[in-house]
Amino acid sequence: TVGAVALDAAGHLAAATSTGGYNNKPEGRVGDSPIIGAGTYARDGVCAVSGTGKGEFFILHAVGHEVASRVAYLGESLEQASSKIIIDEFQPRSIGAGLVAVDAKGNIAAPYNTDGMFRGWVTPEGKFFVGTHDQVFAL
Ligand code: ASP
Repeated sequence: TVGAVALDAAGHLAAATSTGGYNNKPEGRVGDSPIIGAGTYARDGVCAVSGTGKGEFFILHAVGHEVASRVAYLGESLEQASSKIIIDEFQPRSIGAGLVAVDAKGNIAAPYNTDGMFRGWVTPEGKFFVGTHDQVFAL
């Protein structure tokens, strides 16, 4: 899965997710990535979210929308809202998952509960970073 989230100069938020699903998936299966509110979600003024992992659980929990709702209605930070689902709820149930997210202020969160999840980001100043499971590199 490749996911991207963005906050543009005009303050608009966007999310995109592309995936081939997982190996040996049932014929005709539609995963979470194309389902707005599950694997992909963006709402101006709140946040943008793109997820990876077992899509059925992202659909069941409407993860993208759940993260945005926690930020919008509970006042949680993006990190708190994202980690609540990926770390607090999914990890103890062995639901391997991660997400990347950015909020309306430009804060980013990228929690995951798997061995690794490669991610990269660009700062407003135009600096590029990539992260592995235990290291961050400036490009
Ligand atoms: N979420 C994707 C799906 O369930 C798979 C993945 O992220 O690797 O189709």
